[in-house]
Amino acid sequence: MKPKVAFIGLGAMGYPMACNLRRAGYPTVVWNRTAVKAGAHASECGTIAGDLKTVAGADVVFSCLPTSAQVGEMVERLREYLKPGGLWIDCTSGDPEASRGIAAGLRQQGIEFLDAPVSGGTAGAEEGMLTIMVGGSVEAFERALPLLEAVGKKIVRVGPVGAGHALKAVNNTLLAANLWAAGEGLAALVKQGVDPQTALAVINASSGRSNATENLIPERVVTRAWPNTFKLGLLAKDVGIGMKVLDGAGMPAPLLRVTHEAYQMARREIGPDADHVEALKLIERWAGIEIS
Ligand code: NDP
Repeated sequence: MKPKVAFIGLGAMGYPMACNLRRAGYPTVVWNRTAVKAGAHASECGTIAGDLKTVAGADVVFSCLPTSAQVGEMVERLREYLKPGGLWIDCTSGDPEASRGIAAGLRQQGIEFLDAPVSGGTAGAEEGMLTIMVGGSVEAFERALPLLEAVGKKIVRVGPVGAGHALKAVNNTLLAANLWAAGEGLAALVKQGVDPQTALAVINASSGRSNATENLIPERVVTRAWPNTFKLGLLAKDVGIGMKVLDGAGMPAPLLRVTHEAYQMARREIGPDADHVEALKLIERWAGIEIS
């Protein structure tokens, strides 16, 4: 019999992920801070909108929340109802140190914890094609694997608890650096009179290409579509966690530290609820041009 699953946090990522778990045949209870979303999910995906006691009664609890702070809060709210032998899979892009603390607290209650942050955006979540980087014991990973296969395609155990969150923070710091660097370079080229679509076509057939030049900038900036799929505040949070990972390694890392400062500035100027790609609006403002 398939294990009973609960999913906490029906945001841009959690909503389609919980739907895919249900589609894969797992009986799924959902909970969301704004309860109306859980009701909509139940109607659309065939899940059950449950209370916290029902959520805690599941064999496997998933969370996908903004930061580890909210995950810690939810663990505390559920603690009295959680069952020994359970498994908590946290798909938040969280903080390694915080996750080690949460895992230690749950272990005392006989509950295993995996950090399992995801990459692939809302499209990857909808299609069940996410990359999932998992931190935790081999036994817990093996238990989680069939469930993770319902939401992701490339699923890798990368180390002990916290390792998944560390890798995710470094990945997103690289995303942030590539996006910002491409924005600066393209703005300068536009000022030189080069058409950005031409510049992108050449860069994408050359060695300066990245996900930013191949996908994000052509689809969102050049078109002025600016869809909101991943909040700038969340990316800035990830780069902040990336800085803690670098601090832990005792390295100067000047390039990535400047990236952190750039995204702090963009969050202040553009706002945390804007999409992450809108950080480039700040570069456009400084340059007095549009990359379009
Ligand atoms: P959203 O902002 O779309 O959703 C956040 C979710 O968390 C909502 O369900 C929200 O509930 C809930 N929430 C917020 N605060 C609290 C709280 N204090 N207590 C309980 N629930 C709360 O975020 P995303 O889905 O975009 O991101 C979720 C995680 O996934 C983040 O860590 C993000 O960095 C990561 N991520 C996001 C990607 C993306 O492309 N969007 C890609 C990969 C990872 P409510 O509905 O009430 O607001």
